[in-house]
Amino acid sequence: KSVVAIVGRPNVGKSTIFNRLVGERISIVEDIPGVTRDRIYAQAEWLTSTFNLIDTGGIEIGDEPLLVQMRQQAEVAIDEADVIVFLLNGREGITAADEEVAKLLFKSNKPVVVAVNKMDNPEMREEIYEYYSLGFGEPYPISGSHGLGLGDLLDAVVGYFPEISDVETKEDTIYFSLIGRPNVGKSSLVNSMLNEERVIVSEIEGTTREATDTYLKRDDQDYVIIDTAGMRKRGKVYETTEKYSVLRALKAIERSDVVLVLIDAETGIREQDKKIAGYAHEAGRAVILVVNKWDTVETNEKTMKEFETKVRSHFLFLDYAPIVFLSAKTKKRLHTLIPAIKVASENHAKRIQTNVLNDVIMDAIAMNPTPTVKGKRLKVLYATQVAVKPPSFVVFVNNPELMHFSYERFLENKIRDAFGFVGTPIKIFARSR
Ligand code: GDP
Repeated sequence: KSVVAIVGRPNVGKSTIFNRLVGERISIVEDIPGVTRDRIYAQAEWLTSTFNLIDTGGIEIGDEPLLVQMRQQAEVAIDEADVIVFLLNGREGITAADEEVAKLLFKSNKPVVVAVNKMDNPEMREEIYEYYSLGFGEPYPISGSHGLGLGDLLDAVVGYFPEISDVETKEDTIYFSLIGRPNVGKSSLVNSMLNEERVIVSEIEGTTREATDTYLKRDDQDYVIIDTAGMRKRGKVYETTEKYSVLRALKAIERSDVVLVLIDAETGIREQDKKIAGYAHEAGRAVILVVNKWDTVETNEKTMKEFETKVRSHFLFLDYAPIVFLSAKTKKRLHTLIPAIKVASENHAKRIQTNVLNDVIMDAIAMNPTPTVKGKRLKVLYATQVAVKPPSFVVFVNNPELMHFSYERFLENKIRDAFGFVGTPIKIFARSR
């Protein structure tokens, strides 16, 4: 998928444009405790193209002076994006900081589309000619607050997308990534896995290699480990900006079937762990909670159970994720990880036959009658699976408003009990017929 980054000075309206371009997807985000609401990365659509959008303004760089921040944002965009939207404020004209950024972008040879924001009324469009001087061709007048001019801008952006994506995925290969705060042991775990597994392949037939991917094979199953935040490549920006590593993690999550969320048994669970885990959940990927550095914990028959209870209470929204305890250092229990990845991945891609699904739903309803709201009873007509990765079900009902959250949750649990969706989120949508 192509990546588009928005670059511009503070207050030119980057977040507004970001939200406009991403559209309603933002508002359907679940309210999960610990999941950030200031999103810097999201999926957007225009005509037949789906792409990923980065708001570089959300990349916190601390108290750096404006010019330093702008330079870092531009660097992120140049590194990560296929097309860069350079956003300016039409009320202020071209500032010195804008010119500085323009120079950097120009040198990168990446396609740049200039968008001039806050052009709220037609008379202002006369002033657009000034922006040709930046050297990126036609500038696009837009208004984020009024939603004007975005269509033309998107046409220009999409016009720069490469014809075909350069990274293909192979259907029966399991893609997974490791995420977690710095020093939880992501690199160590990858290295241990690679030393342990019998076959490491340099390439899998039928796929185009991405520089940072690692391929391995076990029991005739191909796996690809997707590198996240500078596990191997540690550049300047990678270290200086924390959110930048989040960005890399988000990109890795997106390509993954299964995401391993690492927790450090030595330091315990931190607020940041929840936030990171929230990204994987939100993306609808299969998730495994990996408690690393288990060698540092003095174990008896109780310790694992206790730690598990703690993990469960902190990650309520990941109740479907299995917990794997291991040590990347001593390789203790390491052998349990690959099988857990395989199971989670299979469940993530599982399809349930409609008749079997409906038997389960009807049994559930017989056991726990549908709720009534203001004298009207919810009637469930039938259900069907509409997607995999994650498994998604549409339940056809007389009136979707009568579908209570708690009843939906009850149906979800029944579906889980019946079909064993360990490791994967599942989605249920109520629709009227
Ligand atoms: P990353 O930043 O998540 O990639 O973490 P690293 O893999 O660089 O590991 C951070 C530190 O934790 C290093 O000093 C590792 O040696 C150490 N470490 C990693 N895994 C384990 C483990 O299972 N047990 C112990 N005791 N230390 C570990």
